[in-house]
Amino acid sequence: MDQIEYDARKHGDRLLKYNSVGLKVLLRPENHGAEITNSLPKFQKIELDPLSLDVVTNVSELKFLPSRRLENPLVPIGAISPKMFKRGKIMHYGITILLRLLKMKKFQPLLRSFTAKEKKETDLVKVKQMIKSYAESLGYIVGVTRLDRRFVINHDDRIMPYDTVIMLGMEMDFDLCEEIPNPGNRLWDWEIYRKSSLMVWNVAKYIRKIGYYCHAIIPIDASIKFVPHAINAGMGELGAQGICITPQYGPRQRWCMIGIEADLPVDQPKDYHVADYCDDCLLCLKACPGRAIHEKRIWYRGVYKRKNDDTKCFPFFKKYEGCGICIKVCPFNRYGYEACMDAWKRDGTILGKSNAHKIIAAMGLSGH
Ligand code: SF4
Ligand code: SF4
Repeated sequence: MDQIEYDARKHGDRLLKYNSVGLKVLLRPENHGAEITNSLPKFQKIELDPLSLDVVTNVSELKFLPSRRLENPLVPIGAISPKMFKRGKIMHYGITILLRLLKMKKFQPLLRSFTAKEKKETDLVKVKQMIKSYAESLGYIVGVTRLDRRFVINHDDRIMPYDTVIMLGMEMDFDLCEEIPNPGNRLWDWEIYRKSSLMVWNVAKYIRKIGYYCHAIIPIDASIKFVPHAINAGMGELGAQGICITPQYGPRQRWCMIGIEADLPVDQPKDYHVADYCDDCLLCLKACPGRAIHEKRIWYRGVYKRKNDDTKCFPFFKKYEGCGICIKVCPFNRYGYEACMDAWKRDGTILGKSNAHKIIAAMGLSGH
């Protein structure tokens, strides 16, 4: 591995700034994914400032980005345990996912040293196809891109040692999402976290079986941003509510990632016309009880885009046990990408917009 050891305390650059306690990090000088991200304005109605793009660019907000806490598996599990307790599902969701997270973080790196020694296929086009077919057979949508290390918390190469990443998206159950904002006994969000956390291990196992080292990151793990990588892999485009909208499931999927030692051919970003569609729609903005979705694009950490205001979202996220209203009302969720685009391209119709007030009222909300 082309890594160099880097002590942030000895250097006056941004790593020292962000790792204020002087964390020792492993930093790779090159960043192959940056080239793909920086080319995005050609494909999408977002603009980038490549120099300032960074998940930890905004120093004043570092307290809201507790990077080391996010590395602690007890934090995400602990944060949502009340709704699991209420439903008697601590073991089913919390403990299962916690064990999987520990396995991925602590046990998986050990696997690298004694597995995947004999390559069964060396043609990387075929290797990609084999992995894709296997993952699809488990219910994933699949894309390949290079890791953009600006989206790795703390820029720490120990989190993901490989440059090529396989993005895996899994559909969330439509009927469970219809229960938003009053989820029943089965939780619409944790069902998919659980399922995908279990499945991604099988994909990683398969990759090792065909002879390649790899490292899987499960959906609840917040140490790498999934959305920009899914977009870079050509799987979808950024929606106004900050979710990657895909042609398969709209906003209704959750992501995970597997890094692989082989430089598989990458998929190219695509223009799905979602940003233009959102300009005419903005239903999520109207339905959001926290008014957390910006009407206009703003500059945020190097990207000119619509950005949710987390401080306005969180109270309702808590009140509605994960909220998700912006997913439920999205026409791409309710009608599907093809139907939405057909109607919009035909005469500018946004499906569901005329009766959106009924959907919003049925959730006990007034909209705005
Ligand atoms: S609800 Fe409308 S504006 Fe919001 S993400 Fe979906 S399509 Fe875009
Ligand atoms: S999760 Fe809820 S509060 Fe947060 S942005 Fe979406 S609709 Fe608004």
